[in-house]
Amino acid sequence: MPLILITGLPTSGKSTRAAQLYDYLTERIAAESSSSSTPKFRLHLISDQSLSISRSVYDLDPAHTPAHVRSANASEKDARAALYGAVKRVLSPRDIVILDTLNYIKGWRYQLYCEAKNLQTPFGLVQIGCPVARARGVNEARIRRSEQQEQQEEEQKAGNGTTKDEPTTTSTSTTTTTTTTTAAAAAAGAAPKSGDLYPETYQQSHQNWQQKQFEEESTGPDFEDVTLSPTDSQEPYTPRSNWENLVFRYEEPNPMSRWDSPLFIITWDDTPTDTKATFDQIWDEVIVNKPQKLIRANKSTVQRDKDPGGDYLYVLEKETQDIVKRILEQQAEVGEGGTVRLSRSGTKEEGEEMLEVELPGKKVGLPQLQRYRRAFVALNRGGIGLEAVGTLAAGRLRESFVGYLNDAFEKEM
Ligand code: ADP
Ligand code: MG
Repeated sequence: MPLILITGLPTSGKSTRAAQLYDYLTERIAAESSSSSTPKFRLHLISDQSLSISRSVYDLDPAHTPAHVRSANASEKDARAALYGAVKRVLSPRDIVILDTLNYIKGWRYQLYCEAKNLQTPFGLVQIGCPVARARGVNEARIRRSEQQEQQEEEQKAGNGTTKDEPTTTSTSTTTTTTTTTAAAAAAGAAPKSGDLYPETYQQSHQNWQQKQFEEESTGPDFEDVTLSPTDSQEPYTPRSNWENLVFRYEEPNPMSRWDSPLFIITWDDTPTDTKATFDQIWDEVIVNKPQKLIRANKSTVQRDKDPGGDYLYVLEKETQDIVKRILEQQAEVGEGGTVRLSRSGTKEEGEEMLEVELPGKKVGLPQLQRYRRAFVALNRGGIGLEAVGTLAAGRLRESFVGYLNDAFEKEM
């Protein structure tokens, strides 16, 4: 069953929505399967966390790469390979997979879309809408929290190491003096209330820190103050440049391209009712209904009839030329990666089933289309005594050429 990708900026609320979608689907699957004892579908939530992928794999700055990691870029590739493998292992006609990771690269989404298509299983994309400043605020809050935790751990460690003869008060103040000079400690609110207990050096350093913080805040990047949920325990993206770079690299989904559609958008501010409405839509469009059926002939040659017909070659030329012309016309409207819809009969009859050509991610030109057309014509003109050339209805020929083009374009992405 379907593969549903969650995408969005780092720390924009993806996992929150993914978990909600997981709960929603669990309930719906249970309701659907209530008559039979075994559930109709199995549900899987795959994420960076479920595969223990650290945020640091996304940091492309080689200066921050730990010694044991092959290279900054390779670590992200390894992470993607792990995610891909995990999806591939479970995705099947009975398994619904929610993939909660950044999914920010167009080519990566395309790869997953193809994976679903190969299994003839539906595909959908959920984008989380969140202002950049708010997403940044989440990362900042996580940085603050993890610094606080580190601080507490350090304090505990230092506290445990206290020698017996020293009075407790002294030891506490000593510990604080050595550790709270870090910005983290002050940020954590660990700074003591009364200055009397603490040596001047501490007060001085705290003041310096406050001053520095003020300067950074007034010149630093814009972020909203966000309160993390009490159960939040995710690590932040550090250093901050890791987060900023991911925002910069983010490739917005384009609902016109087939690997980004159907696209559902959920924003941070969507109420439970809004969210449920979108989930209902996902259920209807992605899980229950097969997406629009594409007519895809996978064979590059056309099945021929027994009786040869005189105007076969003429029809072959005419119909393929017509398709080339229409693709070029429609490409201007739908853009790269879009879907071109063509009449099967060539005359567009009422209620007719349409053929669809899925364009590659880059613009196709006339010379390229003509090359494909000539190759297709050569394959299908027959005549080398392999098979008898048969008459072919224009519709079947058009369908076959569309299938041929789809296969060719797919290899081009
Ligand atoms: P991501 O998976 O994109 O990193 P998370 O889902 O982990 O983001 O969310 C980050 C933090 O923001 C969490 O503490 C979460 O509780 C909070 N959060 C996320 N989405 C919302 C929302 N729609 N409303 C309120 N808080 C949210
Ligand atoms: Mg997450």
